[in-house]
Amino acid sequence: MTSKACQDFEDVIERVQGCALCPEMVGCTRVLSWANGSPDAKIMFIGEAPGRLGADRTAIPFHGDVSGDNFEKLIQLAGLSRREVFVTNAVLCNPRDDKGNNAPPSRKVVKNCAKNLKIQIDAVQPKVVVTLGASALGATKFLEDHNFTLSENVRTANDWLGRTLVPLYHPGARAMIHRNFAAQTADYYFVGEILRRADNSEKKNRDFSKPSSSSWEVVRYIIQRYESLSLFKLHKTMYLLDFYSLKEFGKRFSNFVYIRQKDGPYCVELGSRWFKAFGNEIQTFSLEGKLHIRWVSLGLFQEKPLLDEEQKRFVDAVLDRIGIVADSGLKSRVYLTEPMKASLLAERAGVRQLNRPLL
Ligand code: SF4
Repeated sequence: MTSKACQDFEDVIERVQGCALCPEMVGCTRVLSWANGSPDAKIMFIGEAPGRLGADRTAIPFHGDVSGDNFEKLIQLAGLSRREVFVTNAVLCNPRDDKGNNAPPSRKVVKNCAKNLKIQIDAVQPKVVVTLGASALGATKFLEDHNFTLSENVRTANDWLGRTLVPLYHPGARAMIHRNFAAQTADYYFVGEILRRADNSEKKNRDFSKPSSSSWEVVRYIIQRYESLSLFKLHKTMYLLDFYSLKEFGKRFSNFVYIRQKDGPYCVELGSRWFKAFGNEIQTFSLEGKLHIRWVSLGLFQEKPLLDEEQKRFVDAVLDRIGIVADSGLKSRVYLTEPMKASLLAERAGVRQLNRPLL
């Protein structure tokens, strides 16, 4: 981060700490500091207001109460850490009722604090803004008007203020009644994927660095074993590998994330142009309208996939178990796994399954 960006953010903190726009908030903590996250973050989460037992007590937004615990679990599931996100609220002081309990912020207070929200967005310049709950979504209208509603636009990516706006439900216990933890988990996977795509489009013309997780060595090994396969087959093979590992050893083989898409399990990490990170050793081509990948031998200069013998034995056993099947046969096999059967049953019962996590 440049010293100018640091100074800009310091100025924002100073301005907010001296804010006296709402007479009813005299003496309240203004929850904005370096504890909100890095001003370098590419993603900003906006909640409603600091809670009495949470941010008003800890001075860290979404930390120290049930909403904070849920939020921290959800961002972790999306592959994000607090270090790489910026978290704030539509209203920076804790609104209370006559009895001293949390109260919803009035429209006047939200409108006042929209000025503070604007200077935070100007300082952080996030690519993705995620609103948590209807109040936070409503607050964004003061910055640039829109017609998004939580019920119609939840878990969608929308153009707003020159960036992407994703409306989500609040992670607090009350909102979980309307959108349970499983559905919110899928929402956060979606956010993680949107952020990766935003990041990838920024890196479009830059060099890609090779992903470091050992799960990528599994991907390399599978491609090398098959020599050439469809992207569809790679997604389903990775899913089956984790499914069989979970079944036989009680733990996953990779740390990849799978969500339900129209044609079954979809590996979020293999979602967008990941293969560019592998330079010349992986080539892509189109066959019968489907994207395929091919392993290219680079001779002596090629690093072998870094799997130990035990890992290789397990991957080999799974690939042998899958055998030589067409994509349609592989799809049937995947649909016969318990998580997919449960997902299909729920779908038949009218429960929306798209983007829900599997495994
Ligand atoms: S709620 Fe926002 S606008 Fe109102 S006093 Fe606090 S910081 Fe200022």
